[in-house]
Amino acid sequence: MKTSYWTRMCENCGHGRLVLQHDITNHRIYAHCEDCEMGWLRAADQADVSKGFLAMLGDFGSVDPTFDEIARSEWVDHVCGSFDK
Ligand SMILES: [Zn+2]
Repeated sequence: MKTSYWTRMCENCGHGRLVLQHDITNHRIYAHCEDCEMGWLRAADQADVSKGFLAMLGDFGSVDPTFDEIARSEWVDHVCGSFDK
């Protein structure tokens, strides 16, 4: 079982959670909407729809980050909750 961490509800669709993902191609953590597939690279921008990108079109691989990886990123202060899947 893997634990996923999320930061807030998606500002774009209003009903998906922004789940933190580890972009293993570019070595960075970003937030990915579980519903509309929008992504945000910067924690400070996650409430701004115009700063988002369509994550499903990105040419990179991603995995669920561990909490240690999140703790080393700018996202650590923005984690709102977690769930197991
Ligand atoms: Zn969304």
